[in-house]
Amino acid sequence: MRIRADLHIHTLVSDGKASPVEVLYTALDKGLDAIAITDHNSFRGAVQAKKYIKNLPEPMVVIIGNEIRTQYGDVLVYCLDEVDIPNTLPELIDRAHENNCLVVPAHPFSIFRSGIGDVIYEYKGWDAIEVFNASASKGANKKAVEAAKILGLPGLASSDAHILEYIGVAYTIIEVNELSDEEILEAIRKGYVKPKPGKPPFNIVAKRFTWAIEKVFRKRTF
Ligand SMILES: [Zn+2]
Repeated sequence: MRIRADLHIHTLVSDGKASPVEVLYTALDKGLDAIAITDHNSFRGAVQAKKYIKNLPEPMVVIIGNEIRTQYGDVLVYCLDEVDIPNTLPELIDRAHENNCLVVPAHPFSIFRSGIGDVIYEYKGWDAIEVFNASASKGANKKAVEAAKILGLPGLASSDAHILEYIGVAYTIIEVNELSDEEILEAIRKGYVKPKPGKPPFNIVAKRFTWAIEKVFRKRTF
């Protein structure tokens, strides 16, 4: 079956505005089948959301995610459980793989969002690349698509939502046999994915900027 997954979402555990539970209900509302909560340098948002899924009216998979700030920039890690992962490359890649996690450079060519840039070509061991990030520029996303082609890696499209309205504006279609976290990670590894880029309307972009300013005053940095 084909499922829709938004694999890059923040909550108030780091610098997102909404709680993990609010994120879950919004994701269901938007018709998503799976999400990865990827707070900055923390699996906590994802762990909280996962504990709650049994209370939801419909099935939803939560991937235990973390957007880790490495010495070069941001790298997404997708796991089945919370794992202690170092924030330096190449140690991050090794530890993630020892624990069956996936390693995916986030918005790799976005200068404003701490992409790892050309370092993407220096390391082996990426499982996929975020080829479309709804908050990154057109040029940055284009370079990410090229990198995925050159490296022969699957491409993911994600919202990088920090406010509820962004959830699901971009998502990835994943071909799986059943709706489970293990299946989803395995399907990404095998490249059974199709990125679905998309941007929110202007009023939502404006809301996101308002939150970007507000969060500084609320000291919700990471
Ligand atoms: Zn992010």
